[in-house]
Amino acid sequence: MSQERTEGDLRNTGLSLKHDREWDYELDRIISEVDERDATSVGLQFPEGLKRRGPAVVNDLRSELPDDVNVLLSGEHCYGACDLDTDLMRRTDVFVHFGHSPMKQSEKIIYVPLFSNVDVFPIMKRAFEEKLDPPEEDENVGLVTTAQHMNKFDEMREWLEGRGYTVHTRRGDERLTHEGQVLGCNYASADVDADQILYVGGGKFHPLGLAMEHPEKTVVIADPVNNVLDLADSEKFMKQRYAAVHKAMDAETWGVIFSTKIGQGRWETAQEIVENNDDAYMITMDEVTPDRLTNFGLDAYVNTACPRITTDDGPQFKQPILTPQEYRIAVGEESLEDLEFDTFHGTW
Ligand code: SF4
Repeated sequence: MSQERTEGDLRNTGLSLKHDREWDYELDRIISEVDERDATSVGLQFPEGLKRRGPAVVNDLRSELPDDVNVLLSGEHCYGACDLDTDLMRRTDVFVHFGHSPMKQSEKIIYVPLFSNVDVFPIMKRAFEEKLDPPEEDENVGLVTTAQHMNKFDEMREWLEGRGYTVHTRRGDERLTHEGQVLGCNYASADVDADQILYVGGGKFHPLGLAMEHPEKTVVIADPVNNVLDLADSEKFMKQRYAAVHKAMDAETWGVIFSTKIGQGRWETAQEIVENNDDAYMITMDEVTPDRLTNFGLDAYVNTACPRITTDDGPQFKQPILTPQEYRIAVGEESLEDLEFDTFHGTW
């Protein structure tokens, strides 16, 4: 398997655009909703990477809205549409969530997706030339992407069809808004009838989860933002998970984390563990960070919140932190060979 890393090579990408990128905050839509609902308070929630744009958006809204309308920014962490600031939502008449596609529609929430304007086709061309099986050998290809690039999805499909592929796509389940969309916790859209999947998007963890969920498929990563072309290789990642499970096998006491974030709660999963293990304690929290667990002094933890906390941040925790299935393996209820990527389905 050839591993090609070209991070930092910005040629033939749209990355230069990033610096003068203009997001469409859909201010007109927000203003007309405020007007229609006679709202006197508006809450804005940005994902981490876009928080610094918040004050300027508030200024723009203030200049257009009546003087008696308050605009508030959420200072809570935000990692996805699963992670709405419900407290700010309760305190405001209109709540605007930027940067993610809706996980669940609600009258009060305006979702503003903020699509990337990076050109996806140079890296797709390289994927076609260097990594995908040519259509003469395998005409079937699955196509998935993240919410950020969803606005180009139809063009991507046509581009591949124009090169002779039959493109397989589907909308996974109700946690996903769009056909072909994947989340860090849900790859159901890749459940298609093709042995090769083209993932167009950033971040190395999405495709790893994808490769683990679909070990029988070749997952080609085409990252248009960092100009990275690669094949997803879950082996190293699996070793890290095996090591965490082994370490937790000696644990006598367990903390079972139940998330209070609106779209990350798996109550039944957490409850079942605590009911069946007298040495397990349910811990409720919103942000799951190593320092918040330290004072409990337990031997190991099971995370039923966002799976990426376990898989991406796991090594930062002092004690082993496992997914629910990894817990069952550690206590001998399941076999290590059955280890799967932890995924999250449904909404709330
Ligand atoms: S649970 Fe985690 S991976 Fe899934 S949408 Fe929320 S933040 Fe993203």
